[in-house]
Amino acid sequence: MNAAVCMLDEAAAQYGSRVALEDETEVLTYAQYRGRARSIATALWNRGSGRKPIIMYLPKSAAMVCAFMGAQYAGSPYAPVDSHIPMARLQKIIESLNPGVIVTNGQLAGNLEGIDLLGAQVALIEDLSAAEADEALLRRTLAQVVDSDPIYIMYTSGSTGTPKGVTIPHRGIIDYAGWVVNTFRFDENTVMANQAPFYFDNSTFDIYGSLRCGGKLVLIPDVLMLFPLRLPEFLQEKEITSIFWVPTVMINVANSGALEGIQLPQLKTVAFCGEVMPNKQLNIWRRALPQCTYANLYGPTEITDVCCYYLVDRAFDDADPLPIGRACENMRVVLLTEEGKEAAPGEQGELCVIGSGVALGYWNAPEITAKAFVQNPLSPGYSERMYRTGDLAYWDQDGLLQFCGRKDNQIKLKGNRIELGEIETAAMCISGVENAAAIFDAANEQIVLFVETQGTLPFRKFNLELKRYIPQYMLPAKLIPMEKLPHTANDKIDRVTLRKSLEA
Ligand code: AMP
Repeated sequence: MNAAVCMLDEAAAQYGSRVALEDETEVLTYAQYRGRARSIATALWNRGSGRKPIIMYLPKSAAMVCAFMGAQYAGSPYAPVDSHIPMARLQKIIESLNPGVIVTNGQLAGNLEGIDLLGAQVALIEDLSAAEADEALLRRTLAQVVDSDPIYIMYTSGSTGTPKGVTIPHRGIIDYAGWVVNTFRFDENTVMANQAPFYFDNSTFDIYGSLRCGGKLVLIPDVLMLFPLRLPEFLQEKEITSIFWVPTVMINVANSGALEGIQLPQLKTVAFCGEVMPNKQLNIWRRALPQCTYANLYGPTEITDVCCYYLVDRAFDDADPLPIGRACENMRVVLLTEEGKEAAPGEQGELCVIGSGVALGYWNAPEITAKAFVQNPLSPGYSERMYRTGDLAYWDQDGLLQFCGRKDNQIKLKGNRIELGEIETAAMCISGVENAAAIFDAANEQIVLFVETQGTLPFRKFNLELKRYIPQYMLPAKLIPMEKLPHTANDKIDRVTLRKSLEA
């Protein structure tokens, strides 16, 4: 298999009349899914996509999944972005990516008017989907793809203020989808309920896992995510067999009381990833739905979603940490000490990953790529790429990995990956701000922004300005203006003092 989209050819050949995708407005069989993707591919190529990246600026929908596959048939990588993305952030992504086409819809297209598209074509998904597929053309475009080519570019928060375009190869997704299906024994009767936004790589579990087994993918309507109490009912109504959600959502459901007395006999797999899952809430799920397999998956965007997993196989007390387990198939994990040696059992080290899921790097950013993607120092005799995650972990007595947090200023807030530096850079764009330091107040799970200014900054007006540069989930919950930010002896911002001031 040279491209992940070949899985769609296989599924359509085997399960053509079975339902593949369902959203609020439509239900598509595998044959329709493939047909739509091939229409989109033909139209993209005819509009001059020319193997350049394609930005997908769309609300989450079955049509957007078809567009991902369409890009692949056309031989291009796709870059999904949030349909609520601030235009200043999209502008940075366009500058990083230099896309051939931006796929959007009639409602969102107007937002693109004020920004420089660098020559990219704007195409409406409605128009692309209506094109007639050119089978001969698509045989040629797909034949040019090899499995080390990029399949997608997913933008994550960047500490310098510019989002980083993680570039994943087809092989990463092909191997990952195979691992997902084998590990959870998925088959054509599997029905998944997608929670993860498509600009977050947890969605690849759903999109490619369901595709690999010929199962059905149901997209949870966005509005429902605001009502955790109603999510179990949705699972019941749609006869969902598997979920892969971010812990924040699982915690909200557990805390809402919605699991009390609910019967979900069809639900078999409950997997989660993206941040620490507390055993307190996991135990509520386990007590309510004891028939399910629970799995703690771990991985950053840079390694094709997941590189470690732990199938929960024993009881844990509420206060116990949950292991992140061991490496998935086709992946290897090593823990490196500060001296670049392998950490001994029990010793903390940086979690580093090798294997087919490792990204090709950050799109068009050789410097940051060279820092994070390095030669494995433990294999000096031959070339072996390794991704340094910046996460700390240790091997416990059972030979399982335990996660211990981060080495740097990257945080997770409600499942969203945030570089505090990106918030600071955005704040500095606002007039009157001379310097800024974003601090994560872990006790209250919120971001506090200290701002050096000689004037006054009304909080709501300030956040409205910030929203022009950064997504809603990055906005600080508190703003503390100061005449001068404290500095350490070597003239760095004294973040320890700032953090302590929050505890006082
Ligand atoms: P993202 O790139 O958005 O998937 O975020 C990756 C980061 O989320 C990792 O580097 C970890 O810091 C954190 N993370 C992912 N999975 C887990 C997990 N199961 N437990 C704890 N932290 C996690």
